[in-house]
Amino acid sequence: MACRGICVHYKTTARYEENHKRCKICDIFIQWEGVRCPCCSFALRTKARNPRKPAAREDARFVARYA
Ligand SMILES: [Zn+2]
Ligand SMILES: [Zn+2]
Repeated sequence: MACRGICVHYKTTARYEENHKRCKICDIFIQWEGVRCPCCSFALRTKARNPRKPAAREDARFVARYA
């Protein structure tokens, strides 16, 4: 799992806008609709700030309890 130079074709200067994701392996922001980097196949990071995340974790616990 390493940068193969493909990511430069998807490079964007915007940060965490629509379909803009960050690959920490390639250390680059790319415009890509997939969940994994087209270059190194590492799972991409999307917008970091997500106020609904704690609620989602709460839901997961609820599901686990009643599964
Ligand atoms: Zn790359
Ligand atoms: Zn990558």
